[in-house]
Amino acid sequence: MAAMTLELHHILDARNRIRGVADNTPLIPSPFMSKVAGHDFVMKMENMQPVGAFKLRGAMSAVMALPDDVQGVTCCSTGNHGRGVTFAANRRGMKAVICMSELVPQAKVDGIRALGADVRIIGTTQDEAMYESQRLCEVEGLVEISPFDDPHVIAGQGTIGFEMLETRPDLDMLLVPLSGGGLAAGIATAAKAINPGIKVIGITMDRGAAMYESIHAGKPVEVPEYASLADSLGGGIGLENRLSYPICRDLLDDTILVTEEEILHAMQVVFYEDRIVAEGASVVGQAAMLAGKLPQPNGPVGTVITGRNLDMPTFAKLMTGQDVMIGDLEVKGKTYDA
Ligand SMILES: *Cc1c(COP(=O)(O)O)cnc(C)c1O
Repeated sequence: MAAMTLELHHILDARNRIRGVADNTPLIPSPFMSKVAGHDFVMKMENMQPVGAFKLRGAMSAVMALPDDVQGVTCCSTGNHGRGVTFAANRRGMKAVICMSELVPQAKVDGIRALGADVRIIGTTQDEAMYESQRLCEVEGLVEISPFDDPHVIAGQGTIGFEMLETRPDLDMLLVPLSGGGLAAGIATAAKAINPGIKVIGITMDRGAAMYESIHAGKPVEVPEYASLADSLGGGIGLENRLSYPICRDLLDDTILVTEEEILHAMQVVFYEDRIVAEGASVVGQAAMLAGKLPQPNGPVGTVITGRNLDMPTFAKLMTGQDVMIGDLEVKGKTYDA
């Protein structure tokens, strides 16, 4: 069965809707990772978006497409989508109600409150937050903006792939952090429209990997949720998934899992070698490559530093080899050693 069509022109339309607010982040080389890859390794710096994560693209794309009479928007979020939706809603003078589970780190919750959203903490899973957001649409007349299963959101995230290929048409392989798959679906749609031969690989953590399990099962499945260094990759894809699942299933060349240890090492590599503060979710591409889990590239490799919204005291401990607790996950400290 062919995926519902999302095409390059939808991504170019999204580019117009978000222009001047969430576009044109730099694509910078990593000398260290280029040595590992044996080819140029470049990073799309979405950590430099005004809300510290790429999710602003999809959120702006969707909120700008709403009719003027919409009073307010709502969404469920692992933190960064809610921040993007609130930022976008503020620009249109709409209210934003953001539903999140208890697993979302406090630093992310605080960041969203600081932008003026009405924040509701519901239950212990992303699904519970999603049901609350859907209920609010009925009882409060809000419009729901899905974090990944919405054509405008996927088109917005796809602008990242368009910009990467515009700057580096010679890219051979894209490493894309994968959760609900809005990012990977958008990037793969854009990149393969421009260069059908490019390889696009989705990468995620090895526990609670909803899109990975769904692609392997041949249909959307539920997975348990766990605390992770890659907290932005948690949550399900929705059993009723309409768009991001079929597009990822049809367009991704592979999906790969990385461990918490591999994520921690990659966070340290990106910090000590590239001097970048990046969330665990942002460095899974580097983690997979450093762990030797990827096919040998035949040319330049690109990845997306998807976000920087970390709890900084925890980050400082992780970078200096101290043990930390993330929810009920014990992360054993390790000092950096290339
Ligand atoms: C949301 C998010 C992802 C994953 O994006 P999906 O569209 O859900 O696959 C990756 N990294 C960060 C920092 C995110 O916030």
